[in-house]
Amino acid sequence: MKEVVSKYHPHHLILKKYDFIQFKMSCKLIWVTENAEKLISYCCRVSNPKNQDNENIEGLLKYCIKNGHWSILQMASMCVEINTTRAISSQIIRHRSLNIQEFSQRYQKVEQDLEIPELRRQHPTNRQMSLNDLDEDLVNELQYEIKKHFEASNLLYKRLLSYGVAKECSRAILPMNSPTKMYVSATLRDWFHFINVRTHISTQKECRDIALEIKRIFQEQFPIIGNLLD
Ligand SMILES: Cc1cc2nc3c(=O)[nH]c(=O)nc-3n(C[C@H](O)[C@H](O)[C@H](O)COP(=O)(O)OP(=O)(O)OC[C@H]3O[C@@H](n4cnc5c(N)ncnc54)[C@H](O)[C@@H]3O)c2cc1C
Repeated sequence: MKEVVSKYHPHHLILKKYDFIQFKMSCKLIWVTENAEKLISYCCRVSNPKNQDNENIEGLLKYCIKNGHWSILQMASMCVEINTTRAISSQIIRHRSLNIQEFSQRYQKVEQDLEIPELRRQHPTNRQMSLNDLDEDLVNELQYEIKKHFEASNLLYKRLLSYGVAKECSRAILPMNSPTKMYVSATLRDWFHFINVRTHISTQKECRDIALEIKRIFQEQFPIIGNLLD
């Protein structure tokens, strides 16, 4: 940590230069339908009983997905754990086909420290994009301000709880970057579309990082179907 004279602060204060810890999202597999791709093909061949155990499934799966026979992907499911922030979980929850259990701030207090967000510049014309080219010193100063802001809100949150204010009321003052944990289960059809939509460049980077991690898990578990993602 070193001291720097601020270029941006109106009174050119001397600020400390930190190596801030960026938010570390994570995802991990909880459970998955066993032999999912084989099972999907078996069910798909319901009208051709003699052929149901046919080991040659790659062509069938590719044909069905290419031609929009999505229902066969609803024969298998996967559940993942996602660790992210409330700002990002609210975007994931919009996918109505996902089945979600999220950490409740009503029943448990938020214990984890809030991590400092990455700061990117707003794209001048595209509202869905941001650019990673802000001045490093400016980012450091702003992250320092954010750190102070988070510490103050954390202190107030703890004070409210210490006076007996309910968790459901106290949480109202927490920033959107509060950590959260979710268990999300969905059929392969719904994961397929979620991954395609949320790995697209128009999705916020932090949400895209999660979708990319889920894509990696998906491709590991379902190599044939996973290779058909965009
Ligand atoms: C970049 C971006 C910006 C957004 N901005 C806003 C905003 O400003 N305000 C807001 O309220 N919401 C916003 N949203 C959320 C968006 O409107 C949807 O609510 C969200 O993407 C969930 O999509 P969905 O309703 O299709 O649900 P999903 O659960 O993803 O899909 C519903 C069903 O449709 C199926 N399905 C999906 N795609 C296909 C497909 N291509 N072919 C066949 N079946 C399909 C799924 O399998 C599922 O069964 C944004 C989303 C994105 C990605």
